[in-house]
Amino acid sequence: MVKHGIPVTPLNYALWYTYVANEDPDLNQRIDDIVAAYGTIPLTRAEGLFRDHISPTGDHEVTLARMKNDLEQMVQGMGKDLHATIAGTQSFNSLLDECSRDLRTPAASSTNIDDVFGTVEKLLHGSTAMQENTSRFENRLGSANQEIRRLRTELESLRQNAMHDGLTGVYNRRAFDTELAQFIGNGKQGPTIHLGMLDIDHFKQFNDNFGHPVGDRVLRLVGNQLNAVARVGVSAYRYGGEEFALIFCGGTAEQAAELTETLRLSIERLVLKDSRNGERLASITASIGIASRQPGETAANLLSRTDQALYRAKNSGRNQVCLA
Ligand code: GH3
Ligand code: MG
Ligand code: MG
Repeated sequence: MVKHGIPVTPLNYALWYTYVANEDPDLNQRIDDIVAAYGTIPLTRAEGLFRDHISPTGDHEVTLARMKNDLEQMVQGMGKDLHATIAGTQSFNSLLDECSRDLRTPAASSTNIDDVFGTVEKLLHGSTAMQENTSRFENRLGSANQEIRRLRTELESLRQNAMHDGLTGVYNRRAFDTELAQFIGNGKQGPTIHLGMLDIDHFKQFNDNFGHPVGDRVLRLVGNQLNAVARVGVSAYRYGGEEFALIFCGGTAEQAAELTETLRLSIERLVLKDSRNGERLASITASIGIASRQPGETAANLLSRTDQALYRAKNSGRNQVCLA
């Protein structure tokens, strides 16, 4: 793991343990292929391997299932306490009725001090039990509140840690930043990298002309095309809004440009239809900039050159691939 610059996380540890134990030849073959392409195991690939070979539900799903279980137990516990509290309140109410009846009894027939004492004792007993009952429930509510807050924080970090973009299914910005840093952070020596930046042309018009849900549909369609060109050595990410990124690891600049051109064409061929009557609404195109990493170049510099290539593609009429 150290040799390939792989962070020692429980997930990576489980992968490499299985690799060294040679328990799953398919896994070992995939790891070998990935290491050959990237010189390391990118975060996103590690997650996929873990899900396919070690835990079918994946790391995040396991955590999520546990959280659901915790929540369910808490809700059940609160339900029971609430029932007990309601039962306690009802019996205290009956006790109050009873005492009230006792006290309303005509004085002539009951001036017995012991009877009054008896009522006072009953009231004391009942109100103490009621107080205990409500304070138990109050405590339960207090700790449930803390537990809910804890679960919410955990859920937020789980959501942040997840590596897929919820709308389009490609990897998200966090995965992009992490992987680019893993490959070439601080200008370190790393594998040959080509970076692609894709921006949908006049995307705002889809929102303006047909509404936000149609805009979202365009994003999903384009995301599918990016997923279709992704493979070992080529990963696709949603960079933000209507911008996507591609990281090519290994291979030549020509190969990266060729695959990008295939992607551009596949987007151009997409047909956006009206979901109600199947009528064609509009065509979709995208502009793409590509840059190949120069020796020792930082991620920030590579990004900036890729952006410049993308702007050239936009300024030269859109729907084209430009190389830095
Ligand atoms: P250009 O060809 O120059 O790239 O023009 P453009 O219209 O694509 O670019 P612009 O930056 O003007 O518009 C991007 C729009 O994308 C603005 C924003 O409201 C919209 N947008 C960003 N994220 C989402 C999203 O998740 N869903 C939808 N429907 N719209 C989004
Ligand atoms: Mg944009
Ligand atoms: Mg755009």
